Amino acid sequence: MATILPTSRSITNWGAILWRERRFCGDKDYAKHLRRTYLTDPASWFYRLTLRHLGRPYAAEVEAALRSACDTHRGIRYYWQDRLNRLDRAKERTLPISKLTANLQDDHWLERFIARHVLLYRGGEAVVHLRGLVLTGSPAEAALATWLILSIGEETRERLANDAEQLLCSDCFVHCHPLEIDAPEKGSVTYYGCRACHQSITFQPWPDGGVVAVLDRKIPPDVVQANNQIRVNWIVRRRLFDFNQVEIIYATDEEVERFAVQVGNDTEEWRNERYGKMICRVSSDCHLSPGTMRILADTFGKVYKKS
Ligand SMILES: [Zn+2]
Repeated sequence: MATILPTSRSITNWGAILWRERRFCGDKDYAKHLRRTYLTDPASWFYRLTLRHLGRPYAAEVEAALRSACDTHRGIRYYWQDRLNRLDRAKERTLPISKLTANLQDDHWLERFIARHVLLYRGGEAVVHLRGLVLTGSPAEAALATWLILSIGEETRERLANDAEQLLCSDCFVHCHPLEIDAPEKGSVTYYGCRACHQSITFQPWPDGGVVAVLDRKIPPDVVQANNQIRVNWIVRRRLFDFNQVEIIYATDEEVERFAVQVGNDTEEWRNERYGKMICRVSSDCHLSPGTMRILADTFGKVYKKS
């Protein structure tokens, strides 16, 4: 299992990014604290002339700018480092998304800051909740939620788009995929996450030996990873995932038929393209009826009995 985190980019123009954040964030207390940060950087009048048309920077840019400012400036480090450490600890806690969206309106500016950046970190998992806030919140809440959706789109694209085809969600064993959400007034926004659960943090590479859908009622582990292969027991999960081969070790006719019905009704393009070419091995110890063997032959490309 691997957590695919944003790379810590070093940003040299952090002063300009933080100036834009202060100018456009719409959070007075937070803006006051940012002001103390950028006052140490080049003159504000210069930024006002050159940056005001750019609008608010995305949330990941803001965070990277704060971290770069801490790395390069002792005074800012003294002021911000503990607060960024607190943000990092908040990312490790799995607070419900509804709690985080409620914290966007907390009385204390630091809680609001942490809520914004933990929602960015949670990424795809937070997008649908944020869209709800766009539709039902006040104009200020809707604007903030829209900015977070756009920020998540940008951050997940940058981090995951290039490798998406090779990444599997560590919970669902389904590929990372471009997903669309309609952000009112902004149109369709693309972000990246698991095609099934939409999370965008924990993935692992597609293994060289492939992913096997195993049907084995004698050995109950859900998932076994060995010999460069991921073996997921459908009998335990009872739902589909992205696999490229099937092994029936020990299962009843009824279980195999239920599995075949799920495959037959599957509408996922990635899998549908593969079922017709897929190899299905049936252990010689597994005595399936001729009717069940026929269903398997109709469902998959090749069916072998193996000893
Ligand atoms: Zn998932």
